[in-house]
Amino acid sequence: MTTRRITQLIRATAVSEGAGVTVHRTIGTPARRNLDPFLMLDHFSSDDPNDYIAGFPDHPHRGFITVTYMLDGHMLHQDSMGNRGDLRAGGVQWMKAASGVIHSEMPQQSEGLMHGFQLWVNLPADDKMSDPNYQEFSPESIPVIDTGDARVHLISGEFGGQRGPVRDPRTDVQYLHVVLQPRARFTHALPGGFAAFVYLFEGSGVITGDDLEPHSLAVLGSGDDAQLHAGDGGAEFILVAGRPIGEPIVQYGPFVMNTRDEIEQAMADYRDNRLVRKKAAMTGR
Ligand code: FE
Repeated sequence: MTTRRITQLIRATAVSEGAGVTVHRTIGTPARRNLDPFLMLDHFSSDDPNDYIAGFPDHPHRGFITVTYMLDGHMLHQDSMGNRGDLRAGGVQWMKAASGVIHSEMPQQSEGLMHGFQLWVNLPADDKMSDPNYQEFSPESIPVIDTGDARVHLISGEFGGQRGPVRDPRTDVQYLHVVLQPRARFTHALPGGFAAFVYLFEGSGVITGDDLEPHSLAVLGSGDDAQLHAGDGGAEFILVAGRPIGEPIVQYGPFVMNTRDEIEQAMADYRDNRLVRKKAAMTGR
């Protein structure tokens, strides 16, 4: 067995998004434009309402999937498919924007902690213009596996004989939120060809001899498993992996396509009110 080593360490960059929300971005910055199939990772964590109260008013997406995982706080999602979703601590929202969605994500609190992640997962060319789909998963539907050393919230993929509720057959995304005891070791087998990363947000950790600080993302190289040793204060992190798509990526803000022409088309469609082609029903729980 070979353990995956760190091939790149990315410190989060503070970015202002939406109407003025501060997010900590790692994937999707000049340091790392993408990690096929992942296009962006934003971590939002603040107890200062000025950092989040403006929210994300109506904005478009085309060509990929957004996965939002809330750890603290309360957001309301409304979209052009007619979905209205309450995103609460421990819940997950999976939105396949595909051919086009316009949505808003607005905080439902004026004080307290707002904490979570948004991950963008690319779609292959033959799926980019398919119908959008929206799924919401309540906190109760996310399995929590306690190994003694670690508590694992399983958003997608398999761990400890259980399976997370989010399914993405194209990239087989595995998404684990791990709370690791002080000085404990966490090991998770991953398919060899999958891209993988660890984002640490509490405590400290070591991956194959390299230290990992909070708010940094470790891109993992090839190998059979991912392994992390927690420091004296324990470690809290997400471990995410997925099958690369291997196609050209052309991105312009919220549109991610394969060619420049398709981006121009997306911009023209948005301008002419043709971005949203399909409505879809809410499924999942
Ligand atoms: Fe959005």
